[in-house]
Amino acid sequence: MFFLLFGIRTRDHLVDTRVMTCEICGWTAPSARFARTTKFTLFFVPLFPVAPKKFLLRCGHCMGLRTVQDLPAYV
Ligand SMILES: [Zn+2]
Repeated sequence: MFFLLFGIRTRDHLVDTRVMTCEICGWTAPSARFARTTKFTLFFVPLFPVAPKKFLLRCGHCMGLRTVQDLPAYV
C-alpha cells in the first residue's frame, strides 16, 4: 500500500522590528514585520509557493495584525 502525503503549509518569518505608531490602537510600540509564505508540501517537505508572499505588521501593544505592502515611514 502506498500513501501520498501532500498538503499546504503557511509560515511566518520575522523580517524586522521597529518602534512605530499603530494604526489600530494608536499607541507607539515596537512592531514586527513578518513575511508570510504558503507552500505546497509533499511528505512534509515544502516544494514551491502556491500563494504570493504577503507582509504582515503586528503591533507589540494590541497584537493587532494587518497586511502591508511596504513598511510605512519610520515615526
Ligand atoms: Zn496596536
